[in-house]
Amino acid sequence: NTFAEIDLGEALNLNIRRCKYVKPTPVQRHAIPISLAGRDLMACAQTGSGKTAAFCFPIISGIIRGQFERPPGYRTVYPLALILSPTRELSMQIHEEARKFSYQTGVKVVVAYGGAPINQQLRELERGVDILVATPGRLVDLLERARVSLEMIRYLALDEADRMLDMGFEPQIRKIVEQMDMPPPGLRQTLLFSATFPKEIQRLASDFLSNYIFLAV
Ligand code: AMP
Repeated sequence: NTFAEIDLGEALNLNIRRCKYVKPTPVQRHAIPISLAGRDLMACAQTGSGKTAAFCFPIISGIIRGQFERPPGYRTVYPLALILSPTRELSMQIHEEARKFSYQTGVKVVVAYGGAPINQQLRELERGVDILVATPGRLVDLLERARVSLEMIRYLALDEADRMLDMGFEPQIRKIVEQMDMPPPGLRQTLLFSATFPKEIQRLASDFLSNYIFLAV
């Protein structure tokens, strides 16, 4: 009934206390243990439900514990986690929260969205990134410049998936996910969050998730 009872690790738990989160919200209470168990998840969650922490906590905890090795890329960066979100505003919010949660853990969070100079974002990325928060269009631009590789992605979170589809991002999302499938496929965990579940979202889930748990709170 409290975050301290969930096995998220000491560093993350300290940051959770710093954020003054004590009790998990309903979506957090269910989504976090499912994700920590390594399962793919499709969750029904509205804005304000606490969904940001629901996908950030397992990702940050997994990265801290994972000791993932990455290729020594020269000017190519290999994020371990990707969080896709529909808008610049939402990406900025997720980035800000994820940074608080990963404070002093060594986990680096970088955000990239459209409508801002891409060179500045590239420079930021070159300093290293574990968790990349991005809008689909801007990420496709970055991938085309071959500076960001998705080969090492171990965690993929799609936030407000229904809104991303409404905005016409499905081709970009598919292009992005295709780039992750090349190396060991079973190694990636995918968390899909959406407020609604029309056919298009169900199709996305059956294409991207494997043996997933459906959560509606
Ligand atoms: P979200 O739905 O992720 O946008 O979160 C909505 C708001 O609730 C944000 O301001 C969060 O910081 C806050 N929040 C999320 N989870 C908790 C929690 N377990 N305890 C207190 N506040 C929370």
